[in-house]
Amino acid sequence: MLFLPLISKQLLTFECDMLENKTIIAGPCSAESREQVLKTAEGLTSVGISYFRAGLWKPRTRPGCFEGVGEKGLEWMREVKQKYGLKIATEVAFREHVEMCLSAGVDLVWIGARTTSNPFLVQELAEALGGKNIKVLVKNPINPDVDLWAGAVDRLTRAGVRNVGVIHRGFSSYQKIKYRNAPGWQIAIEFRQRYPDVPFFCDPSHLAGRKDYILELSQKSLDLGLDGLMIETHCSPSQALSDSGQQLTPSELKCLLDSLSARKPLPTSEDVRSRLEEMRRDMDVIDTRILQDLTDRMDISRQMGHLKKAEGISVIQTGRWNSLLERVCEESKKYGLREDYVKSIFSIIHDASIDEQD
Ligand code: PEP
Ligand code: MN
Repeated sequence: MLFLPLISKQLLTFECDMLENKTIIAGPCSAESREQVLKTAEGLTSVGISYFRAGLWKPRTRPGCFEGVGEKGLEWMREVKQKYGLKIATEVAFREHVEMCLSAGVDLVWIGARTTSNPFLVQELAEALGGKNIKVLVKNPINPDVDLWAGAVDRLTRAGVRNVGVIHRGFSSYQKIKYRNAPGWQIAIEFRQRYPDVPFFCDPSHLAGRKDYILELSQKSLDLGLDGLMIETHCSPSQALSDSGQQLTPSELKCLLDSLSARKPLPTSEDVRSRLEEMRRDMDVIDTRILQDLTDRMDISRQMGHLKKAEGISVIQTGRWNSLLERVCEESKKYGLREDYVKSIFSIIHDASIDEQD
């Protein structure tokens, strides 16, 4: 049985920014120098963000890359807090990072995607963070595993961390795709549905990998009703020591936030509410019909299974599957349905049929 973390949104008091009740976290991928940190923070003061982020301990894919300035960056972050009144946030991976952050007055820490994938480290962090007055955001693990992500949140709440939220930053992909990381929105949606009260952020910078995709990904996450954004911002992105292609300048961030529109979580007019309800009723009727058709299909599949068994014919007949797929893909064009959508539905239907015939 899944252990549901005892989290309630009320416990997490993220303040809201200009973008209709959405919390914005912005700042450089990495703190590089005192000047870069302060200049970026100064630029962000007119953008209206709540949290200034900067990575101090950087988990890099290959050794020899810039691995962060470490503890000395905390002093620069404290200056940002004092001078510009911004709350400060950084990534932690070990107990010592947590201890240093707590003594430096860091307001929020996040657990990076590579760390979330490691239950030993998450447990260590959970024990260091338990009972402390600090907010914690858990990035999704690099592999698309909703249970591993939920498990990390669970470890934190069991250890007494009260202010927990999550960040969707996409998943590693072996295939070449448009974005740096595969969005896998269905996993984010599944997490959201399992834990509707856990504040949910999106990190379009690490999803995108390139600054020109950040707007569309941010808008998509707002359309899904997520609670806030973490966007990498640098005073001089082209000179950044890490993730230079995906960082925005503070003024680019301002333009981006101005062009986003946040949706209301629920309809406010009675007319819209009742039209939506009517559409949902129509949809429910169709869903019931789909279930009936699936049941009828499964009945035939079972009969076929018995016949194949009685006649000693193998369950999987690849020729049949290929011709079925070809036919439904051809028909899907006629109906204007996306081919990949139809393909994935029929793969699930076919797999279940084969299972039933075993
Ligand atoms: C980061 O936010 O700088 C970072 C390293 O992110 P991720 O863990 O998502 O790769
Ligand atoms: Mn980064």
